[in-house]
Amino acid sequence: MRCSYLNSLKVCLIGIVLVFIHDSVFAQIGETKTVAIPVGNNLPPLRVLVVNSERFPPLGKGAVEKIIATTTSLIQSHFGVSISFITPRFTSLEKLATNLLPAHLAWARSQTLDLSKADDQATLIQTMRKDLLENGGTVQDLQRYSAPYLFKPPANDTLDAFADALAYTQVGLMSEWRTQMHSDKKPLLVSDGFAEYSFWLVLGYTSLPYEIVITNQLMASAEKIANSVHSALRGGVTNGLTGSSRGSASGTFSILSVFPLVSDDPITTKLRNGKIYSKADSLTYAAAILAHELGHQLFHLGHPFNNPACLMRPPLRLQFDDWYAQLDPQKCAMGSDDAMTPGRTVRYSEIRK
Ligand SMILES: [Zn+2]
Repeated sequence: MRCSYLNSLKVCLIGIVLVFIHDSVFAQIGETKTVAIPVGNNLPPLRVLVVNSERFPPLGKGAVEKIIATTTSLIQSHFGVSISFITPRFTSLEKLATNLLPAHLAWARSQTLDLSKADDQATLIQTMRKDLLENGGTVQDLQRYSAPYLFKPPANDTLDAFADALAYTQVGLMSEWRTQMHSDKKPLLVSDGFAEYSFWLVLGYTSLPYEIVITNQLMASAEKIANSVHSALRGGVTNGLTGSSRGSASGTFSILSVFPLVSDDPITTKLRNGKIYSKADSLTYAAAILAHELGHQLFHLGHPFNNPACLMRPPLRLQFDDWYAQLDPQKCAMGSDDAMTPGRTVRYSEIRK
């Protein structure tokens, strides 16, 4: 999740309007019809595409099967419905990119902020401020929650100062991603476009017939869209996102990036509070994130920030173990909160033909 909670942020894209909710994105082309919420127990088997980047350790069949099995169990225990999957298919990131039209790629690139430029930093602060105003809870709550992780304290108690401190933190962490060297002698985060949130978002505009995409690619970016307290505190990292899709049966698709769970690079580890996860644990947490995304896709749920028992509450930074340990479906019933009421706080726009 560039886990994000949702807001309505409109972005014009060559005649296309996109409406966002951080990790969950509602997109639409030319019309405003809302995607119908998929019917509870009559869900068709979900189709999974695994996308491996050659820069990072590939996700194998066994790991994907483990994620899918655990996700199925979590969906049953947290949401009370049965889901099934079709045997996953595998492809490379480079091949996947060929599905995108030049206009899609151009739009994705146009969303990227160059944080070395004052104007782009100002845009980040501005979008962060908008997010603070639109999300649930109070700014004081968010400030308290964020305080230990900010690279500098807010200059005063205003919203602007808080947004500035968040953006400053994201800029600092992004700089670390761009200087931390990887085993291929390049920085972990390079400018090939594959780490951009928008690149993954526009896959929904292709005809890819999948409800789920799982990748080993690091997603870490600063863009004009989908900025939030959560994304700032984790340096722009996205663990998962859900957005409108032309090719998905549900009208939306969910993406899981396992990089923040399986990588033990110094920045990721720092954002996990120094924790190194076992392989088994990392796959369990990956499954939980995928189940969270499916909570967006299958039920159009939002983010109940005030209830740590909820799978739909985003984790703080990359502290997946703490997040997972607090989950308890008995204390987070469907309908227990606006965000836990299907379609109440989340809306996806229809882009299927
Ligand atoms: Zn979410």
